[in-house]
Amino acid sequence: MSDKIPVGILGATGAVGQNYIYLLQDHPWFEVTYVAASPRSAGKRYRDVVESRWLLGANIPEGVKNLVIEDANDPSKAAGKCRFVFSALELDSKDEIKALENAYATLGIPVVSNASAHRWTDNVPMLIPEINADHVAVIDAQKKAHGWDKGFVAVKPNCSLQSYMTPIWALMQAGYEVKRMFVTTLQAVSGAGYPGVPSLDMIDNVVPYIGGEEEKSEKEPLKIFGSVKDGKIVNAAGPLVAAHCNRVPVINGHTACVSLEFGEKKPSLAEVERIWTEFRGLPQELGLPFAPKQPIIVRHEANRPQPRRDRDEDKGMAVSVGRLRECPLFDIRFVGLSHNTVRGAAGGGILNAELLKAQGYLA
Ligand code: NAP
Repeated sequence: MSDKIPVGILGATGAVGQNYIYLLQDHPWFEVTYVAASPRSAGKRYRDVVESRWLLGANIPEGVKNLVIEDANDPSKAAGKCRFVFSALELDSKDEIKALENAYATLGIPVVSNASAHRWTDNVPMLIPEINADHVAVIDAQKKAHGWDKGFVAVKPNCSLQSYMTPIWALMQAGYEVKRMFVTTLQAVSGAGYPGVPSLDMIDNVVPYIGGEEEKSEKEPLKIFGSVKDGKIVNAAGPLVAAHCNRVPVINGHTACVSLEFGEKKPSLAEVERIWTEFRGLPQELGLPFAPKQPIIVRHEANRPQPRRDRDEDKGMAVSVGRLRECPLFDIRFVGLSHNTVRGAAGGGILNAELLKAQGYLA
């Protein structure tokens, strides 16, 4: 009998759910024992539903392929089969996802979510563990507000943010205020889930619109850079962000072209590079299994980072940055890149769960 923590995946058949199944197969702490999806898939074996649309290179992991999929809309099915769930659900509305995630928490099953429904709930932490691990402190107030004993909800931010938030935080932590930021994202098709954007829209094309994405890119940094006060997260006042989000014909890997304006104190390019290279966060200090050893990898080639060449750095969990140079409009500019379905989705969710376990929330 395994002594690993049994975990469930809600939305296990989708793009993010499949990544969870794949990434968790040899995890030292967690073992997938429960899979759930829509009523269309419920009652069928995982492999029978997924093998014709399995997105990962390797085979469906042995331990999961014969599990019978349950209906994710019925949280009582998960009781006793897993200690917590990763939520990778796509439902018709955010309110439905919020209500369902709360229902799992009510049953005493913590939810580590990829969905955006709870990102603006002020007692739900929106975690990038290298930046705001201290935000887990609001979970106690969240449990108290709902009368929950073991259950709670923790979320991760939008996938494209991971390509630049840690580099920006590293500079902020070194004492440089970031006042304004201009970002243009080039986002992979896997970010739209499966089957995602029609191939006739994507091949030989760029789509300069991703519904809701620019708003998320402009607002979410303020919560992530916020602080904990009286059991809630109080948003930071800045930076002011302007975002242009584009869908490009890349399978995995979100690229972001970023310009930053600093306050009065401005770092030199050499100082920026030194800060990024030396940066380490709590996941690295704690040695969490999914923590990249070097969270920010600085590239010096004139034409990097690139999705195909750099997205898999350190299990797909590191952020690659390059093309660091002065900006004629703001102060500096650079290109950031991260793997959207790993660091930006399932891998990021796993790192959040590792942090929560290390801090005693999944005992
Ligand atoms: P997806 O490929 O469309 O998968 C959606 C999943 O939700 C499937 O397992 C599907 O099950 C299930 N589902 C659909 N309708 C349902 C219903 N009525 N009741 C219960 N389950 C239902 O989507 P995805 O890209 O994996 O995204 C999942 C979540 O992660 C979304 O909230 C998304 O915003 C978020 N996210 C995605 C990414 C990314 O890079 N893709 C990054 C960050 C966050 P069936 O197969 O049975 O239909």
